[in-house]
Amino acid sequence: MSSPQNPGVPLAHYRQHGGGVRLTCVARMRHRDLPLEPVIARLEARGVGNAQTGIKAVAAFVTAPCPSCGGRHFETAPWFPVRRNSQV
Ligand SMILES: [Zn+2]
Repeated sequence: MSSPQNPGVPLAHYRQHGGGVRLTCVARMRHRDLPLEPVIARLEARGVGNAQTGIKAVAAFVTAPCPSCGGRHFETAPWFPVRRNSQV
């Protein structure tokens, strides 16, 4: 079980994995994948977080409504782009 109080792994951790932030609209379960650095930069610019902010906690700082349904309830999780050098 995951607690809503658990902020998740700090964003800085995903730098070494080339990961990003997957933002999921809870109403529609549609997601958008955001690059990591702009997300951190926005948190810092707004004074609400930084690279130490937990991946799950980022959802609380999303201010723009979902472009698909206008919903404002989001969940965030790490996202990793497909690696070209993966074994086939
Ligand atoms: Zn939506």
